[in-house]
Amino acid sequence: MTADMKKPAVLLIDDEEAILAGISYVLEKNGYRVVTANGGEQGLEVFKKENLQLVITDLVMDGIGGLEVLKQVKEIKPETMVVIMTGHGEMDSSIEALRLGASDYLLKPCKEEELLFRVTRCFEKLQMLNDAKKTNEKLKKSVIKHQELEKSLRASNKQLELLSTLDGLTGIANRRTFEKFLEREWKSSMRHTQPATAIMMDIDFFKLYNDTYGHQAGDDCLKKVARTIEKSLRRPGDLVARYGGEEFVAILSDTSQKGAFSLAEKVRASVEALEIPHQASPVNKFVTISLGVASRVPERGDASSILISEADQSLYKAKQEGRNRVME
Ligand code: GH3
Ligand code: MG
Ligand code: MG
Repeated sequence: MTADMKKPAVLLIDDEEAILAGISYVLEKNGYRVVTANGGEQGLEVFKKENLQLVITDLVMDGIGGLEVLKQVKEIKPETMVVIMTGHGEMDSSIEALRLGASDYLLKPCKEEELLFRVTRCFEKLQMLNDAKKTNEKLKKSVIKHQELEKSLRASNKQLELLSTLDGLTGIANRRTFEKFLEREWKSSMRHTQPATAIMMDIDFFKLYNDTYGHQAGDDCLKKVARTIEKSLRRPGDLVARYGGEEFVAILSDTSQKGAFSLAEKVRASVEALEIPHQASPVNKFVTISLGVASRVPERGDASSILISEADQSLYKAKQEGRNRVME
């Protein structure tokens, strides 16, 4: 781009050579680039080819007149500024031109200062419009960015929420989720006078396991046992959770004590069938668990902790009776 092309550019249309020359002289002297056309037709042709932000056009010309130039220019590039030049006695047309979107008008013959004042004002307006457009675009972009951020925040919040319900080591439900679930289940059983059932489970001689194989192996064992319990017990409406260190709990909805007992036996057998070596265990070559079952129809005023302490007592019995077994 030449230095000239960087100047603010004006398209000047008039069918009088003297006016073209006079106005061009003034504008060029004051730092504008001027492209001239000696009629409406030629003016529009030039306008279509060149990037010109301001059009100064005579009103009355042979062929295409100033109002038609104005209309077409506004159709082609609505943000273009158009100044209409009129002679005396053409005031009505000047007002019509403003109504049609002209930015300003000039009375011929016009003084140099007036010409420069109107032209400068047009370019200032253009600059302002341009700045406003840029600000608007920036704002739009930042709004979109904001919306995207909010979206990803919502997604990660959801993820966090889900994670906060799970036990970090085993990936099954954690104690907090269990407490909430139990409360809901207990109330529902009370309303429907149906049994609520719990199975408490505890790995046998797990301290010895850690002592023998190390804590890391202990963690791996916990993961395997958790997965197996969940797989062999989980039906829709049931919950399996990590209750504490090497203790797990299951809440079964609408399951009788008898049904729960046989489910518990299935779980016990599937853990034993994992055949995780446990050479220090006095009861088995492999890792085993003991299970306690409790089931009751809650009565008004009963706390849900009753169910858990009964299941705990059954578990204690299972430990007493020799481990790797189910008691109720
Ligand atoms: P019992 O058959 O009577 O249940 O014997 P136990 O050794 O399993 O019971 P105890 O309560 O004496 O020991 C439980 C052990 O479980 C102690 C602790 O080191 C281990 N433990 C608890 N949580 C974790 C864990 O997250 N990772 C590992 N590796 N070990 C754990
Ligand atoms: Mg134990
Ligand atoms: Mg224990």
